[in-house]
Amino acid sequence: SSSLISQGNRCSLGREVERFSTAAALEEPITPPVRKTFPTLDPRTGEVIANVAEGDAEDIDRAVAAARRAFDEGPWPKMTAYERSRILLRFADLLDKHSDDLAALEAWNSGKPYEQALKIELPTVSRLFRYYAGWADKIHGLTVPADGPYHVQTLHEPIGVAGQIVPWNFPLLMFAWKVGPALATGNTIVLKAAEQTPLTAVYAAKLLHEAGLPPGVLNIVSGYGPTAGAALASHMDVDKIAFTGSTDTGKIVQELAAKSNLKPVTLELGGKSPFIVCEDANIDRAVELAHFALFFNQGQCCAAGSRTFVHERVYDEFVEKAKARALRRKVGDPFQKGIEQGPQIDSEQCEKILRYIKSGIESNATLECGGDRIGSKGYYIQPTVFSNVKDDMLIAQDEIFGPVQTILKFKDVDEVIKRANMTRYGLASGVFTKNIDTANKLTRGLRAGTVWVNCFDVFDAAIPFGGYKMSGIGREKGIYSLHNYLQVKAVVTALENPAW
Ligand code: NAD
Repeated sequence: SSSLISQGNRCSLGREVERFSTAAALEEPITPPVRKTFPTLDPRTGEVIANVAEGDAEDIDRAVAAARRAFDEGPWPKMTAYERSRILLRFADLLDKHSDDLAALEAWNSGKPYEQALKIELPTVSRLFRYYAGWADKIHGLTVPADGPYHVQTLHEPIGVAGQIVPWNFPLLMFAWKVGPALATGNTIVLKAAEQTPLTAVYAAKLLHEAGLPPGVLNIVSGYGPTAGAALASHMDVDKIAFTGSTDTGKIVQELAAKSNLKPVTLELGGKSPFIVCEDANIDRAVELAHFALFFNQGQCCAAGSRTFVHERVYDEFVEKAKARALRRKVGDPFQKGIEQGPQIDSEQCEKILRYIKSGIESNATLECGGDRIGSKGYYIQPTVFSNVKDDMLIAQDEIFGPVQTILKFKDVDEVIKRANMTRYGLASGVFTKNIDTANKLTRGLRAGTVWVNCFDVFDAAIPFGGYKMSGIGREKGIYSLHNYLQVKAVVTALENPAW
């Protein structure tokens, strides 16, 4: 990886990506002629890594046609589930073999620490494909005890062509959450990568073909949201759309799906997740976990514990230690050893975060530390901590999606449940306590798709993930995700000639 990076922004991998960049699995698993390109940038510097094919509505049409053909004519949905499983397992092995290149590409294109990509994300991605490989040959229907002389069974069939739109914060992980269950259940796919981070999806698609995936089954289109993304969401020949990103865009995707062919939609959207530190908590551990819950991945996590509620008895000590921890956070080049935080994804996100910090200061929250950009090159932001944050401040309401911790004070459990739920989001939540009764009360009271108790960001492949309220529709991962990609067919067979 170091040589890959040090060769500068036109390294061999970059050139290969340019050549192999859109609709990666049409008839031939090599790109069709590229008409337009757009630059993909290195967030450390804002410099160009490679020019990537800019797919538009026409490319989406071609990719959907390829996916349709691969679904209708096979062999993919018709091959034995065991064979599909083996391809996914081979792919997982290839992911492990190429984890160094993939982690480097991920860090280079998104700014996340290389060590985080290599040691946390890549193993999670290959594990997820092994998990879904295990499901491929275990998709059972039911026999149904209906009234009358009928033999009734349900067949769980693939839904068809799945459209998938992914964001830039975890490009490969989001690829895995979408592609794993869709392939295990025998669907074909058109996936639109985020315009900021198109590189690793293309690399992964190439490995999937090496693992034996037939042509046309997975088609990657790099391009922008309002053009390529919207064309996919509104396509008449796409049978299902899955989206991860902002709540505003999620609404557009659902509307496009409804206005076209009413394709079912699953959405994984924004959050403003509470992290609740109770009075009995070990403060040092709570500080460390709350820090991780917010600052992980430069604060660019949909599940980020972005409202830290701390009991009034331990509030001052917590704030002091949270500030000290933020000041110790190692920010810098994501390829340097020991770096905890790299640059934000792009200038737009960087500016947006700085605007929220300004709004926090103006609304009289106490800026404990940070608050500024680091240097003028790249998109680095100081780890920032606000105390004395009130529920109605913008920084306590909106998804900042950056390294900004907001610490609020609470008095008792009933009050904190009410306040934690006072948000349009309901993605995740964290609870830190040794008291089992408090933990039980909180886990049942919080309206969120996940409650992590004395832990945070545990993203095992088997654990379902998704949101209440405006954080989304449906669940990804685990057994729940399979249902997003299956149709249920009831087959009713008369057991004897009815009397008529
Ligand atoms: P976004 O929702 O606009 O982008 C996510 C994906 O949707 C990208 O692939 C994008 O190209 C696509 N898209 C955009 N407009 C589209 C359209 N009209 N039709 C179809 N697809 C479209 O997110 P963003 O602008 O990159 O980030 C904005 C904010 O979203 C962030 O600040 C953050 O708050 C939030 N966000 C959340 C997540 C998450 O995991 N929940 C991920 C990324 C961003």
